Amino acid sequence: MSSLRQVINSNLKPNFKTFVRTFASEGKYPNGYSFELNETQREYQDIARKFAREEIIPKAAEYDRTGAFPWDLVKKAHEVGVINTHIPQAYGGMAMGVFDGCLVAEELAYGCTGIATALEATGLGQTPVLIAGNDAQKKKYLGRLIEEPLLAAYCVTEPGAGSDVNGVKTRAEKKGDEWILNGQKMWITNGGVANWYFVLARTNPDPKAPASKAFTGFIVERDFPGVTPGRKEMNMGQRASDTRGITFEDVRVPKENVLVAEGAGFKIAMETFDKTRPPVAAAATGLAQRAFDEALKYSLERKAFGVPIVAHQAVAFILADMAIGVNTARLSWQRSAWEVDQGRRNTYEASIAKAYAADVANKCATDAVQIFGGNGFNSDYPVEKLMRDAKIYQIYEGTAQIQRHIISRELIDRAKKQLI
Ligand SMILES: Cc1cc2nc3c(=O)[nH]c(=O)nc-3n(C[C@H](O)[C@H](O)[C@H](O)COP(=O)(O)OP(=O)(O)OC[C@H]3O[C@@H](n4cnc5c(N)ncnc54)[C@H](O)[C@@H]3O)c2cc1C
Repeated sequence: MSSLRQVINSNLKPNFKTFVRTFASEGKYPNGYSFELNETQREYQDIARKFAREEIIPKAAEYDRTGAFPWDLVKKAHEVGVINTHIPQAYGGMAMGVFDGCLVAEELAYGCTGIATALEATGLGQTPVLIAGNDAQKKKYLGRLIEEPLLAAYCVTEPGAGSDVNGVKTRAEKKGDEWILNGQKMWITNGGVANWYFVLARTNPDPKAPASKAFTGFIVERDFPGVTPGRKEMNMGQRASDTRGITFEDVRVPKENVLVAEGAGFKIAMETFDKTRPPVAAAATGLAQRAFDEALKYSLERKAFGVPIVAHQAVAFILADMAIGVNTARLSWQRSAWEVDQGRRNTYEASIAKAYAADVANKCATDAVQIFGGNGFNSDYPVEKLMRDAKIYQIYEGTAQIQRHIISRELIDRAKKQLI
């Protein structure tokens, strides 16, 4: 299998800038608008698609059943280059834009969103370092992920604070050249398998301090004494993904591991989502596409009342609605990813894409179960897993309600600005 790294290396020179363009907008498209992928993007998509079909799909049911962590697939993904895609070239990476990373995410998720989440969550852990790390931090922590198939994780949520990040209680106190970290995180993807974590902690003890100044972001190594991941959580779906609580007890973190400066953590944690929600939306679209493909295939084969069930208009219309969802969810992640790749703030588009694609994934998975009838309810068929796996898209990286909260806040801000 050719690797993404080979494709990228063959395209990097002489002018990297021409390669990172996300939509093919050469002279062929004089109005600058195109729905076509360029040749390089099609190659990324093909490599990720091949990886999903040949490596992920054959193993997905077994990982779902056992809940074992797919280390063999992490190693292969590292080899082929479908993880660590955004790490800059200066640190050995491929410097992919968000749009191109989303193309990969959608394909991996088509294979299995549990395995894709295990692979994608390292990108979530890396993003705070990508956007806010200094050269030494990037070299040390991103560089090691390129050298070896190691993973990162993002630790913000706590048992008492999920949607309300301002409620984070994990504390860090400065002592000489170190910070002493104490607290408990919850629901951390890759929690038990990551080599290092991005950790958000309160560093201003004043409860009235604004969130924008009260928190600091740290890079914390798994091997630092006092870091203890809990048991693997048994979740409804995406069971290949490793989700755990983590306890931090008097963990000594060197001051070199602070991102930007004391007080900058909340902004870093939130800005991360502008880059990571588009791939979550892309992954939800991948699941929806899989549900549609499985349902279409089944409806052409299964007969009822002497005809394939697709010949019953009620079934065909369910498929039509699924196709509407898949198509529009894809457009939605594409827009949100493209915006951020242009260097523009995409918070609004990212929340729309994440909320919408998550809902589409859930609807398509439920519809696929319906089209499979009794077989849809059974684990010998692929769609009950899709329905279990889909639910988390309405919860992690900001719930369905929090996305709507962000969208409405952005709408109101925009309206107020127009009125001024
Ligand atoms: C499998 C899994 C993986 C995860 N991975 C990670 C990870 O890697 N890193 C990490 O930091 N976190 C992770 N999370 C945590 C996830 O982001 C949170 O679960 C999520 O943000 C919701 O927080 P909560 O569970 O505390 O729910 P709560 O915040 O308690 O919300 C409960 C309900 O109230 C609603 N609600 C809350 N506030 C409002 C409001 N203002 N308006 C309207 N409705 C509201 C919510 O939408 C939800 O329906 C993961 C969670 C799971 C289950």
